[in-house]
Amino acid sequence: MHPYRTHNCGELRREHAGQTVTLAGWTSRRRDHGGLIFIDLRDRWGKTQVVVDPAVSSQAHAIAQNVRGDYVLQVRGTVRMRPEGLDNPNLNTGEIEVAAAEMKLLNPAKTPPFSTNDDSPVDEALRLRYRYLDLRRPRMQRNMILRHKVVKYIRDYLTTRDFVEIETPVLFKSTPEGARDYLVPSRIQPGHFYALPQSPQQLKQLLMVAGYERYFQIARCFRDEDLRGDRQPEFTQLDLEMSFVEREDILTLIEPLVIGIVEELSDKRLLTKPFPRLKYQEVIDRFGTDRPDSRFGLELFVVSDLVAGSGFGVFRDTVAGGGQVKGICAGGCANYSRRQIDELTELVREQGAKGLAWLALKATDDGEPQVRSSFAKFLNEEEIQKLLARAQAKPGDLVLFVADQPVTVAEALSHLRLELGDRLGLRDPNVLAYCWVLDFPLFTWSQEESRWDPSHHLFTAPMPEDIPLLDTDPGAARGQQYDLVCNGYETAGGSIRIHQRKVQEKVFELIGLNLEDARQRFGHMLEAFEFGTPPHGGIAPGIDRLVMLLAGEPNIREVMAFPKSQKAADLMANAPSPVDPKQLQELHLCLAEE
Ligand code: ASP
Repeated sequence: MHPYRTHNCGELRREHAGQTVTLAGWTSRRRDHGGLIFIDLRDRWGKTQVVVDPAVSSQAHAIAQNVRGDYVLQVRGTVRMRPEGLDNPNLNTGEIEVAAAEMKLLNPAKTPPFSTNDDSPVDEALRLRYRYLDLRRPRMQRNMILRHKVVKYIRDYLTTRDFVEIETPVLFKSTPEGARDYLVPSRIQPGHFYALPQSPQQLKQLLMVAGYERYFQIARCFRDEDLRGDRQPEFTQLDLEMSFVEREDILTLIEPLVIGIVEELSDKRLLTKPFPRLKYQEVIDRFGTDRPDSRFGLELFVVSDLVAGSGFGVFRDTVAGGGQVKGICAGGCANYSRRQIDELTELVREQGAKGLAWLALKATDDGEPQVRSSFAKFLNEEEIQKLLARAQAKPGDLVLFVADQPVTVAEALSHLRLELGDRLGLRDPNVLAYCWVLDFPLFTWSQEESRWDPSHHLFTAPMPEDIPLLDTDPGAARGQQYDLVCNGYETAGGSIRIHQRKVQEKVFELIGLNLEDARQRFGHMLEAFEFGTPPHGGIAPGIDRLVMLLAGEPNIREVMAFPKSQKAADLMANAPSPVDPKQLQELHLCLAEE
């Protein structure tokens, strides 16, 4: 017999009645009924009620009297049916109880700073400070186990499709993905640094040169960037690369994988199958962002043509200055108060817009809708009617407009759209609306740096027919990039890669990397590409975000065992922390005076 337990705390049923069992676990609850003491004993698999009767075992009763929450116990006893009417249908062991014959206190516990029994709200800093106790709670247990199942599903799915899982180093060289690197100083080579990979991008491409053809890895990525709800300094992705493939091969590999995970491992509903495929420009036009929340409509529309010649100076001048006027129709919001409209105005201002113009079509008792507006006095009746028609506004609707440069309009209205989606209850947390976004521009123009930046990363291949544009009009060249978007999050990104040295060098040049710099940083890639590189491509779905969406959690910290705080700190271990001056010396580092 196992020294600690014969069964776990979630296992005993009516058919075990009469058996002698041994259980071990934590005290979840203890009730003293004067004489009888009830202890709910909990382990990873569930809870079992233990009854301690001094008439049955005075030894067990003496121990049980001093037991508190989270004490670690071992109990030997007999399984019996609970008395008539005292079943607990909410517990899978709710029909039985264990009458204690012997009890051993394996370890006492301090009073925890919050209950480990339930998911009652606790300040997040406290949860992170005592993460091991937080991880004892049901919500985190559910999330950790779900995460394991997702990763196992991925491993099985890819293994049956002939993929090989290969680990790549964490101590490596800078691999840019658009964020800052975490650097690790070398003790052995003074003044030299490793960079933690922002992704295994270079290494997986080198594995294609090496001929592995189908690689994957559950890979840790490190990016030093300002943290938001869905970002962490280190996160995990399913990193994947294939040779002799086109975009279609990657899409048709990943889509069934995601559908299988959602349908088999969660209770979420997929809005559309197969996933819609949208072009980058189309999603920008319709949603103002390349990661749209497509659970709901409220699509944006252009009205520049209708207002260019109008008497409203703000609209007219914006269009004349190369800007754009776009709107969104908030169904049923015509009665929004001044304060509510002010709140929305503040939101678009935070995104850089100068303001929000509005037009409300109020329903009235006499059936003749009445127009209220911040700018109607500058427009004639026909112009207003045309705006309402473009908005497809019905009586009771509120139409909101932003006039600015296209980037600002998109930024402002995409945020406004999400806010309205929230206010109108259109973002159903039980629905997952996946879509592919395709045909990204290869580059975006960086105003600050006066150069082209890769939209994805610098190894993404242009569309073959757009290669000549690299010399003539780089901004018009499309990349072979694809993103998988869900509910407003980018959940995977990938591309077909450049496999010809000449094209790669051209891209380096356009993003302002001279050949000498490029050789310094990526000489190994350029060299490898000369040894017979197959055409290849890949993708990297984020595991944290996927599990977050499946679990219906608001951020990825809830699905990571030991996440960092919003200030990139581990509040439990107190990292980062100062180090011994001797360690700095060994690393040939000295700290600048602050
Ligand atoms: N390395 C990319 C990323 O982490 C994914 C890819 O292109 O496969 O976003």
